[in-house]
Amino acid sequence: MTIDLKKAQKTLEARQQELANLSANSKQSRDPVTLDQQSVGRLSRMDAMQGQAMAQEAERRRARDSVRIAEALKRLDDDDYGYCIECDEEIAPKRLEIDPAAALCIKCASRSEG
Ligand SMILES: [Zn+2]
Repeated sequence: MTIDLKKAQKTLEARQQELANLSANSKQSRDPVTLDQQSVGRLSRMDAMQGQAMAQEAERRRARDSVRIAEALKRLDDDDYGYCIECDEEIAPKRLEIDPAAALCIKCASRSEG
């Protein structure tokens, strides 16, 4: 296995920290839209609600990423890291370089994507 596990762990931990920071920073934009009805028109209220929906979607994406990263870190702990969770084959190091949280080898990943 040619994967640098220490480096992978560092990358994963840094990414998880980054996700946590982003999540904390954007918390306000996900809060219910409360606008002063007198100072803003209907349009900006809709803008604000759209912005909120986008912020919520971004947060859902971050939550999914965070779970993937947590699972990858657990695999590192279990010495399972770098192996496909479907077929147990080694995941190509290049693939892990691009996405250190990758849980599937390229074959299984392309199969599950259809
Ligand atoms: Zn596989």
